[in-house]
Amino acid sequence: MFPFGARRAPPSQLPRPIPPFLRETTNSYLYRLAMANQLHPDDLRAHLTGTRHHAAITVECLSAATGRSPHSLLHALPELQPDTTPGTDPPLPTHVRRTICWRCATRRSAFIFAVTWQPAEVTLCPNHRIWLGPPVPAHRGGQYDVTGLPDILRAQRRHYRLARRHGRQTTADAVAEAAHITALWARHGLHADRRRPLIHAFLGHTPLTGRLPSGDPITAVVTYPETIDLARLLATPRWRHPTDPATKREVREFRRDVNHHLAIRYQPQDSPYDPLFRWFRKRHVSATHASTRPADCPAPRRGARVTSGKPSPQRGGTASSLPGSHSKHAAFPSVRSS
Ligand SMILES: [Zn+2]
Repeated sequence: MFPFGARRAPPSQLPRPIPPFLRETTNSYLYRLAMANQLHPDDLRAHLTGTRHHAAITVECLSAATGRSPHSLLHALPELQPDTTPGTDPPLPTHVRRTICWRCATRRSAFIFAVTWQPAEVTLCPNHRIWLGPPVPAHRGGQYDVTGLPDILRAQRRHYRLARRHGRQTTADAVAEAAHITALWARHGLHADRRRPLIHAFLGHTPLTGRLPSGDPITAVVTYPETIDLARLLATPRWRHPTDPATKREVREFRRDVNHHLAIRYQPQDSPYDPLFRWFRKRHVSATHASTRPADCPAPRRGARVTSGKPSPQRGGTASSLPGSHSKHAAFPSVRSS
């Protein structure tokens, strides 16, 4: 049961064997268990494994130390499940670490910074409407109560629907991409009408410029409704997996869809560095390469360096099609007439 050099008998039971939260990370549970029993986390690990050297925490030793059945521990702690490869992060597909809602923690008299694995689409505590989404509050930070912000509550429901419709992985990818775009918009004060009342709700005022500083902790929550609406568009197969190079007609239709989904006046031609149009362009450049590679790509020369599939300056397009190009036409690099 125990590794060579470690204790051969099970560890004795701890005086306060607190229960784990459902899907709690093993480190979080061990930390809370140590705090509850007034132990240093390293001392608790030594007690469980019988050695001061590195040794894996097993469900058997935890069961002996807490008096909880191996079955219940395996149910609560996914990293201990036998089919999980040690070190796999996350241990469950498309799950992310979320600090548990402080009200749920208080109800259990638990240390408030317990961390659990949650499906990526869970951004609110369903019981207390506490924001759990990114960024995970550091130990110094509090958690936001969004009970009085129906725009955010509705966005969470749309987020769930998106995951059911497109699957968790596609949704997680689209939301991450959309969040990056809306964070840049917030930083530059673009398309701010919908965001402004949310910023006011959190800060008590609205910045005169309408801009949020880079890395502001409220960015993810105040941009969440527009992020989900944009993610819905980015997850659409037509835009996510285009089969042909972009045409002017497609650009017009993409712009129309953006305006419809986000209720904004999106004008990519006026914003050559707009992150959303970069996303559109990147998708279509990939489609261009995919559709032309067999005919256009000669076999690599001997000794040529093998690269990833990412577009590069040497493969397709002109200099004006490259991200960061200063050409006034850079916004429509690979667009051809329909
Ligand atoms: Zn809660």
